[in-house]
Amino acid sequence: MIAEIIVDVAAHPIDRPFDYLIPEKLEALAEPGMRVKVPFGNRKVLGFITNIKEKSDFDPGRMKPVHELMDVVPVLNTELLKMAAWMKEQTVCFEIDALQVMVPAALRAKYEKRFVLASGLEAVDSRLHPYFGNKPFIRSQDAEDVFGLIKKELDKGTIIADTNIQQQTAVKKVRMIHITDSVEKLESIDIRGNAKQQLKLMDFMKENPGLSIESSELQKIAGVTLPTIYSLAEKGAADLSNVETYRDPKMLTEIEKKDNLVLTEAQQKAFDAIDKSLNSPRTFLLHGITGSGKTEIYLQTIDQVLKEGKEAIMLVPEISLTPQMTLRFKERFGDMVAVLHSGLSAGEKYDEWRKIQRGEVKVAVGARSAIFAPFENLGLIILDEEHESSYKQDDSPRYHARDLAIWRGEYHSCPVILGSATPSLESYARAQKGVYELLVLEKRARNQPLPAVHIVDMREELRTGNRSMFSVQLADAIRDRLAKKEQTVLFLNKRGYSSFVLCRDCGTVMQCPNCDISLTYHRSSEMMKCHYCGYDERVPHTCPECESEHIRFFGTGTQKVEEELAKLVPEARVLRMDVDTTRNKGAHEKILNSFGEGKADILLGTQMIAKGLDFPNITLVGVLSADTTLHLPDFRAAEKTYQLLTQVSGRAGRDVLPGTVFVQSYTPEHYAITLAKDQLYEPFYDQEMAMRRASGYPPYYYVVNIQFTHEDLMTVAEYAGQTVEYLREQLSDQTVIIGPSASLIARVNNRYRYQCLIKYKKEPKLTEVMQQLIKIYRSDWLKKGATLAIDMNPTSV
Ligand code: ADP
Ligand code: ZN
Ligand code: ZN
Repeated sequence: MIAEIIVDVAAHPIDRPFDYLIPEKLEALAEPGMRVKVPFGNRKVLGFITNIKEKSDFDPGRMKPVHELMDVVPVLNTELLKMAAWMKEQTVCFEIDALQVMVPAALRAKYEKRFVLASGLEAVDSRLHPYFGNKPFIRSQDAEDVFGLIKKELDKGTIIADTNIQQQTAVKKVRMIHITDSVEKLESIDIRGNAKQQLKLMDFMKENPGLSIESSELQKIAGVTLPTIYSLAEKGAADLSNVETYRDPKMLTEIEKKDNLVLTEAQQKAFDAIDKSLNSPRTFLLHGITGSGKTEIYLQTIDQVLKEGKEAIMLVPEISLTPQMTLRFKERFGDMVAVLHSGLSAGEKYDEWRKIQRGEVKVAVGARSAIFAPFENLGLIILDEEHESSYKQDDSPRYHARDLAIWRGEYHSCPVILGSATPSLESYARAQKGVYELLVLEKRARNQPLPAVHIVDMREELRTGNRSMFSVQLADAIRDRLAKKEQTVLFLNKRGYSSFVLCRDCGTVMQCPNCDISLTYHRSSEMMKCHYCGYDERVPHTCPECESEHIRFFGTGTQKVEEELAKLVPEARVLRMDVDTTRNKGAHEKILNSFGEGKADILLGTQMIAKGLDFPNITLVGVLSADTTLHLPDFRAAEKTYQLLTQVSGRAGRDVLPGTVFVQSYTPEHYAITLAKDQLYEPFYDQEMAMRRASGYPPYYYVVNIQFTHEDLMTVAEYAGQTVEYLREQLSDQTVIIGPSASLIARVNNRYRYQCLIKYKKEPKLTEVMQQLIKIYRSDWLKKGATLAIDMNPTSV
């Protein structure tokens, strides 16, 4: 038997499966979708079996055998294997990347470099002996100190470098102790009088014959150590076994089961439309303003799907995967739900994935990668906030979860719901054309009015002498809410204020030595860090340029606002939520919980608080600067601004108390701001579509972004130049190619970056040409140290 295997090798010019012999002893076990260890060149690499066959075009005598099966049960089923092949075509990625992204991180290949003795310890420079000790190899981290010596031995051939695949122990096991149920047996065991621990444990056992208990529990309860337990087990007092278990990410809140709400008329209409199509591959665009009850519809359609014995995937952007959201799902579906979010450890994620694979749960709620949940009998896929750019993966495979959802919907013949208050222009355009079925919720579920949104012209504030970051109106409103004991949310667009270190005498801003970007100042550690390459250093006492001691720090935007806020309302209790305060696991949840419990008056934060926040006592929302997203060099700038303002405003007045929103801006007349004020989506859509048509961007044109990097500026410019020339030859005349040009941040981690942009309407040869680019890259430029990244549908350029 022969296995077709996609191997984890990026350097090969051709991306196709390789044929390997399946050794006889593995024949009965090997199945497509399993991970294997195989020899490749002089290394061992990980691979996925994609097919098993009887004949090969290759000479079986020269074919290499599979070394080892790494799974007992396939980690990928037929559907996911097919989807990987499709992803390879669609996103122009390597198939191995598509396969690896589908399995939990704990199952992906990790290699470690080792230096292995080729001719025994005695043949090696004696200074290396202590490093090898009595092992035949050392790992590369251990070898760092003595690398010079190792290099010499490599030349002599007494040591060879080797790569080993790290076997991860993803399954968690606990040790169970089963105390014998025979009291006679226990009575008959002989214990020496001075073995106090053993006597203590024996007393416990005699009181609890037949008990099965986790060893860690037993140690605690009986107050004995593990060796004591072992020694009594050896004497026959108990049996030991290892039992697989799940790590249990505990929720902070106790969960009470809740029933479905009675749907409003509008909700019912939308629900019925979906319910009618539960067995067909339709895509619905559920366009409902914030608070219109979309989530309730999701919950009830999922309920319906479960009743039919099928499964459902619910995708949410990572940022809105709040404890509140999770709670709503657990309240309805109890332990039928697996929740996959970035706060879980690799092991915890693996456990959730296995519950899905084994059919122990029926609903998966999670961010982007939950689209790979290995359900066998899908009945529904939902993308909430379908416009969110986090559904697109930034690096290879650059897939969009929306495309995969629709692919899986077709495969299982089940519906897909795309939900949003502010649909992406692409999706709305498709709904207009009838490709998606549009469902609309125009009112809030409990008929609460939309919050009153006021746009504040910050130019006017300046003119009247107010230089603070709070307009007079917003400041008054904050004081007013404080007096009424109602809550306020203040939203700061992170990019609006930078945090850097500057010399006041010569104006030098401290830069990363490896990148063309200034270092970010971290107040808590007094360090300056580069967010692109990870470089960090202490804040200098004197300027490296002019030796002045007048160094000035600018704190992060939110810290700055916090200081001004303390001057404005010193008595207010303020909670800050940004990257700095949410670094620890569970911090996000803690901050939200304490705000929900009324332990603070004001919540101040970045994008993080724009979504999901659903507390009845919030009656005021302030957007400190609406302009920062608007002026990003990105064709989606207006769309993003509109979406953000709508989202943020939606946080106010969600319960009985009415909400008010102040949006501060220096360009208050921009249509993205004026139309977001009253959530007038359609006029916004029309105006933005006209802009996109005029400038030739999606959804009128498709866009491909290609990025090149190299250590040497001339080399990368040459590579980009040659590529663009090639593209001009190959692609049709109507297609526009912009560039090549240096990227916005022209150097990152000492690598220069170039890019070019392809804009096209119809380009039948595109996939083929892109595949050709990859071939050229793999056989030529890769060896010269360049990188190539092709993004077929970038969310921003
Ligand atoms: P969305 O997802 O569109 O923002 P939600 O489903 O979160 O809307 O609903 C907003 C609020 O209205 C929530 O507090 C929810 O409990 C409530 N709600 C939704 N549907 C109903 C209903 N049919 N009856 C009563 N309350 C509802
Ligand atoms: Zn200086
Ligand atoms: Zn850097």
